[in-house]
Amino acid sequence: MSSKILDSFLKENLEDLKGRGLYNVIDPLESPNGPTITIGGRELVNLSSNNYLGLATDQRLKDAATDALNRFGVGAGAVRTINGTLELHVKLEEKLAEFKHTEAAIAYQSGFNCNMAAISAVMDKNDAILSDELNHASIIDGCRLSKAKIIRYNHSDMEDLRAKAKEAKESGLYNKIMVITDGVFSMDGDIALLPEIVEIAEEFDLITYVDDAHGSGVLGKGAGTVKHFGLSDKVDFQIGTLSKAIGVVGGYVAGKQDLIDWLKVRSRPFLFSTSLTPADVAASMRAIEILMESTELNERLWENANYLKKGLVELGFDIGQSETPITPCIIGDEVKTQQFSKRLNDEGVYAKSIVFPTVPRGTGRVRNMPSAAHTKEMLDRAIAIYAKVGKEMGIIQ
Ligand code: PMP
Repeated sequence: MSSKILDSFLKENLEDLKGRGLYNVIDPLESPNGPTITIGGRELVNLSSNNYLGLATDQRLKDAATDALNRFGVGAGAVRTINGTLELHVKLEEKLAEFKHTEAAIAYQSGFNCNMAAISAVMDKNDAILSDELNHASIIDGCRLSKAKIIRYNHSDMEDLRAKAKEAKESGLYNKIMVITDGVFSMDGDIALLPEIVEIAEEFDLITYVDDAHGSGVLGKGAGTVKHFGLSDKVDFQIGTLSKAIGVVGGYVAGKQDLIDWLKVRSRPFLFSTSLTPADVAASMRAIEILMESTELNERLWENANYLKKGLVELGFDIGQSETPITPCIIGDEVKTQQFSKRLNDEGVYAKSIVFPTVPRGTGRVRNMPSAAHTKEMLDRAIAIYAKVGKEMGIIQ
C-alpha cells in the first residue's frame, strides 16, 4: 500500500503545475538528436540541442565507441577508486588536461555531478562562495552541498562582486572565499567577464571556478572561455561537460595537479559512483582529438550561428544580449511564449520555450541552439517559419 500523504502531495502539486501550464511535457525523439529530428512521425528543424558541433552522431565517435565497447564491454564495473579505472579513463583525463592547457584533469559521470563533486570537496562551512545570480542549477546545488556561506552577486555586475568580495574578505569570517561563474550563461548566451573576475580574485585572494559547459567547443576556437580570454593559468577550476559540444556524456575539472589529486581522494561521486562507460570515454576522447586537430567544426558553428542570428534580427526579433550561438528570441509574456513555441513546432521548428521560474517573470523566450551540423537550407526553413509565425502572432511586423 502506498503512503496516503505522498499520494495527496503528488496529486495536489502535479495538478497545480498542470493548471498553471508549467508541467513540462517531454517529447520522445524517434530519430538521433541531429540537426533535424523526428517527433510523432514529423521531421522538424532541431534548434534545441546542445550538440553544438554535431558530434553526437559523428561516425568517428561512433566507431571509437563501438571499438571500446567491443574491447571493454558496456560497463566499467566499479567506482574509479576500487577498480573502475580503465586505462581509457586515464588517457581521457590526460587529453582533457592537454585540451584545457592545465597540469591535470579528472572526469565525472556528468557535468551536474561534477559541480556537486568539486565544490564540496574544497569548500566547507567556514568558507564563503560568491556566486553569479544566473549560475546554473548544478552550481547552486553544489554550493549548497558544501555548506559554505553563499553570497549571490548581481549578474555580471563587477562593482557588486568587488564590493561583496571586499566585505567578505574584511569580515575575517571565512577561511577561504571562492568566486564561481558560468563561462557562458545558458539562457541569454552572454559571456562572463572573466578578465575582471580574475582581477578581483587576485585583489582579494579568491579561488576562481569557471563552469564552461556552454563555452567549451564554442569559444577560444573550441578550447573554451578561459582560453578565449588567455587566462588558462589564472583560473583554479575549469569545469566542462562532455555532454554538449563533445556530444557524449560526462563532466570534468581541469586544473593544477594538486587540485586534481585532492579531488581524486575527496570528491564523493568519484569515490562512490560507478565510472563512465568505456564507450562514452572513447567517444569523448575522439571528440577532443577532433577539436584539437581542426577548427573546422567550430568555424561552421559560428557561421551558422551568425547566419541564424542575422536572419532573426532582420525579421525584427529581440535576441537579447547573446554573444554566442545560444540565441534567445525574447517574447516576454509566459503564455504567449509557450504558444509561439507550439506554433513553431506545428510549422516544423523544434525550439523550446523557457519561462519563469527558469528565467525572470516577463522575459519568456524561445531559445535557439544552432549547430555546425545545420545546413543553410535548414536554417532558411527555420527563419521562414519564424517569419510566418511571428507575423501571425503579432510579435514582428
Ligand atoms: N553546468 C552548466 C553551466 C550547464 O549548462 C549544464 C547543462 N545544462 C551542466 C552544468 C550540466 O551538465 P551535464 O548535462 O553534463 O550534466
